[in-house]
Amino acid sequence: MTYITKKEGTTSPWITKGLLIVVSAPSGAGKTSLCREILKYIPDIKHSISYTTRAPRSSERDGIDYHFVTEDIFKKMIEEDAFIEWAIVHGNYYGTCKQELETLLEEGNDIILDIDSQGAMQIRQKFNNGVFIYILPPSFEDLRERLTVRKSDSPEEIEKRLRKAREEIKNYTMYDYLIINDEFDKALERLKAIIIASRIRIDRVNPEWINTKFLK
Ligand code: 5GP
Repeated sequence: MTYITKKEGTTSPWITKGLLIVVSAPSGAGKTSLCREILKYIPDIKHSISYTTRAPRSSERDGIDYHFVTEDIFKKMIEEDAFIEWAIVHGNYYGTCKQELETLLEEGNDIILDIDSQGAMQIRQKFNNGVFIYILPPSFEDLRERLTVRKSDSPEEIEKRLRKAREEIKNYTMYDYLIINDEFDKALERLKAIIIASRIRIDRVNPEWINTKFLK
């Protein structure tokens, strides 16, 4: 087994490679805001930019929020085995580029992946040392209210998202942590705590570093 020592200056030399943080939630639980905000507190985490066939929203920019591609390009990428995981979510394709993710991790970057539970399950089978976090609002009614208030979806779309949420929530036991987003600041504190603790988990320590520093 080869260990890649993280780049000097940015990270801890006793840690092997980057931490993969996978965050999922039903739509409307506040996951996107939490993932965006956490980058302000823990700035050396990188956000992996997914590929999608969904049309960009007015505030979104190609290459920053997503790589927006056509269905033909996405399917070609599937054929070429370019994705570490991909899924159809609310009728659109979404996927994480395998090479981009692996390179970032091997360079020692900690990566946050904001993906749905189908994708999280695929990653779970490939990375047994990632940290998997699920976010929920305090209740199902709360979820309905949040989706209604944000006015970005039609009533039919909201019902579709709620049905999908019910199906997905059943799989909560595949995650390591559950954050209830009852108050944004508290949820952010919980997310921070999980990431900070996961970074120094024993299974991430480079045994060669311990050897050289303490046992020789
Ligand atoms: P939205 O279209 O609202 O940005 O995202 C819809 C859903 O797709 C969210 O649950 C989001 O986490 C998920 N998603 C975004 N990128 C990916 C990805 O690369 N893979 C998977 N499986 N889901 C993704």
